[in-house]
Amino acid sequence: MAKMAQGEDKVADRPEQQRTYLVGQAQMAARPLAPALYLVATPIGNLSDITLRALETLAAADIVACEDTRVSRILLERYGIRRRTTAYHEHNALEAGPRLLAALEAGNSVALISDAGTPLVSDPGFRLVGEALERGIRVVPVPGPSAALAALTASGLPSDTFLFAGFLPTKAGQLRSRLEELSRVPATLIFFESPRRLAETLAAMSDALGRDRTAAIARELTKTFEEMRTGTLGELAAHYAEAGAPKGEVVICVGPPLPASHSADDMDRLLLSLTRELPASKAAAEAARMTGQPKQALYQRLLELRKRDERRDG
Ligand code: SAM
Repeated sequence: MAKMAQGEDKVADRPEQQRTYLVGQAQMAARPLAPALYLVATPIGNLSDITLRALETLAAADIVACEDTRVSRILLERYGIRRRTTAYHEHNALEAGPRLLAALEAGNSVALISDAGTPLVSDPGFRLVGEALERGIRVVPVPGPSAALAALTASGLPSDTFLFAGFLPTKAGQLRSRLEELSRVPATLIFFESPRRLAETLAAMSDALGRDRTAAIARELTKTFEEMRTGTLGELAAHYAEAGAPKGEVVICVGPPLPASHSADDMDRLLLSLTRELPASKAAAEAARMTGQPKQALYQRLLELRKRDERRDG
């Protein structure tokens, strides 16, 4: 029983710890798991959002390390999984980490889960993974839900380039300088935030990132009261200042900075300089890429500029 505390022996199966899991009414036997540290993503609200591989990994692991064993117990019971759980969180990492590493080195398999979503994403595990890799222990991701990606994909904001910025600092000065740092990043920004601070944070974002930037607040994803509210940062800040703190969990997504405005003269100069090197259609496409303005309109303008120059020369 105390084998994990000794950290040397392979954890033995107890009769109440069969390696099975339930899919609907069907009891499935989990196949044996190679010794490794498995990072298992779990649901962010809707308990059905769990992969078959996650269930099998949790059912087969020698040890399931949980951020909070009471929270994870609900998920494990829902799927009939009776594995030994142990706590691994930021307050006991110094003591629990070495125990888990010793168990891994003794040939056990360890599944790490957080309260919700993907471990290590604003959740414990970063240090444990680093130390496992240093010791040559295999680390295996078992991917699944994450609030950041669920919010991004349903936000309608550009998803080709994004930066996940986690939780922002709560102190006003640090918050301002972090937002200042992020204001020029040419990507959709994703933040976790507490609903209590949402209105204040949106007001700070509106000041630092620009009140016209489009944004989305994803609330209670995968749960009964799931909601996606979109608008400019200015509009969203005003809405939550009026409505107060929403209930439940929220993710803030902010679209990339708006293209810098260019005067008509700037655009003409850019088009003429590009057309010295490129054919008209390529010059227009390049100018569109650089400024975010429509290619067709730039192409038409370039033809006008050429005609004007021909008249002047002739
Ligand atoms: N590791 C988790 C993940 O991958 O989703 C995130 C853990 S972080 C401690 C918790 C934050 O994630 C919450 O404060 C909230 O910003 C966001 N979050 C988690 N579940 C959510 C949900 N169902 N809807 C909206 N936001 C959620």
